[in-house]
Amino acid sequence: MAIATLNPATGVVERTYPPMSDAEVERALADARRAATALRRTTFAERAGWMRAAADLLEADAPALAATMTREMGKTLASAEAEVRKAAYGCRFYAAHAEAMLAPEPADAAAVGAATAYSVYQPLGVVLAVMPWNFPVWQVLRFAAPALMAGNAGLLKHASNVPQTALYLGELFTRAGFPRGAFATLLIGAAQVEGVLRDDRVAAATLTGSEAAGRSVARIAGDALKKTVLELGGSDPFLVLPSADVARAAATAVRARCQNNGQSCIAAKRFIVHTDVYDEFVAAFAEGMAALRVGDPAEPGTDVGPIATESGRAELEELVADAVARGATVLTGGARPDGPGWFYPPTVLADVDPSMRLHLEETFGPVATVYRVPDLDAALDLANATAFGLGAVVWTTDEAERARCVAELESGAVTVNGMTTSYPELPFGGVKTSGYGRELAAAGIREFCNLKAVWIGR
Ligand code: NAP
Repeated sequence: MAIATLNPATGVVERTYPPMSDAEVERALADARRAATALRRTTFAERAGWMRAAADLLEADAPALAATMTREMGKTLASAEAEVRKAAYGCRFYAAHAEAMLAPEPADAAAVGAATAYSVYQPLGVVLAVMPWNFPVWQVLRFAAPALMAGNAGLLKHASNVPQTALYLGELFTRAGFPRGAFATLLIGAAQVEGVLRDDRVAAATLTGSEAAGRSVARIAGDALKKTVLELGGSDPFLVLPSADVARAAATAVRARCQNNGQSCIAAKRFIVHTDVYDEFVAAFAEGMAALRVGDPAEPGTDVGPIATESGRAELEELVADAVARGATVLTGGARPDGPGWFYPPTVLADVDPSMRLHLEETFGPVATVYRVPDLDAALDLANATAFGLGAVVWTTDEAERARCVAELESGAVTVNGMTTSYPELPFGGVKTSGYGRELAAAGIREFCNLKAVWIGR
């Protein structure tokens, strides 16, 4: 895949970049190693000052950076700007809380025969981050803010279709005061990741992206015995039970499916509806999906911009065509519009069965499947009948149903009467093929730390 800005709203290649040479990669690795050594000697207060400066820069740069994001991957300008502000908030959150999250943990000294015993969180060193284009700033910052606050250095291999955003992020932290090399962008293709990952100066890696990319990085890191965190795909269920506020559930379902042009790992993708409220919910949901305005993501008032890549739209079309050929009913959408750009309309499919690919595969675009179920047991069985386990939503006001959903949904998050969202305050991650490890909250900052036990005798 070429490293290039290719505007998905027009299909025009705006700028291409040659991948970095081996010598340039070598320089970045050496700088990162040096920066990691320097960083581990800095205090939380110093790093927090730089992190807050990075937040200030993000906020000041938000309009221009958002315009770049929209041109590179097609998200609406309003959502791009909101993403940058959320990233700034994430920086401030870790600036404020990192020290407490990584405070030494006292142990029972007498029980281990010591005068003093405790454990400390220390940085691992240089961490490689392989990141996707769909939230091109937030995904990176939710790794970078905790990693740098813990005293690690970061090397970013961003998705090849967001090079200008990647270059901005590669300079952000040095502009904010961090030592040179503390966080840098490697403009490299996926094939160059293995060499970097195997390099002795790289201690660990995090990848957000597809299952295939996750398996590849995990295989190499496993061979090199390096720690990884993987945030992969999802096919999140959205359950609607009879006690739900159906109108609110349907309106939320539209946003949960179509946020970020439908290209979110935690977008609700499978809508599992109790038969008592199925007709009411599905009618309101399909109507809400059909009412969304699809078009130029830079125009105010646009709800859904283009799919980020031509191949992404082709995959979506294949999944829908396969389902329709096998008997699925299109309630709205289902056909691409004429004209330039990789647009695809919000689509709702009913009468979906396990013979269809989209029953099990992730749909990365504004395509929803609706299922009718007779009771909660059937809803939970269907919700869990997937290889993924990222987020899950349930709409109910019944306490017993809520408790069963929290206990039995196989996912990294359960949201009741809302939609799945990531917050710096809550851990984020998946189970099953959605990956392992956690980002955000205290769990996220501890992932790339060495928890060192200290035993001091008399
Ligand atoms: P992708 O193709 O896996 O790309 C993600 C990143 O991995 C890019 O930087 C890509 O580089 C790199 N990459 C691809 N193949 C690789 C390999 N074999 N070795 C090393 N690096 C490799 O994913 P995508 O299609 O851009 O993103 C969509 C996927 O990400 C969806 O499945 C979505 O659910 C998932 N996602 C998950 C989360 C989460 O938090 N769980 C969040 C967002 C997205 P190139 O661009 O150079 O190929």
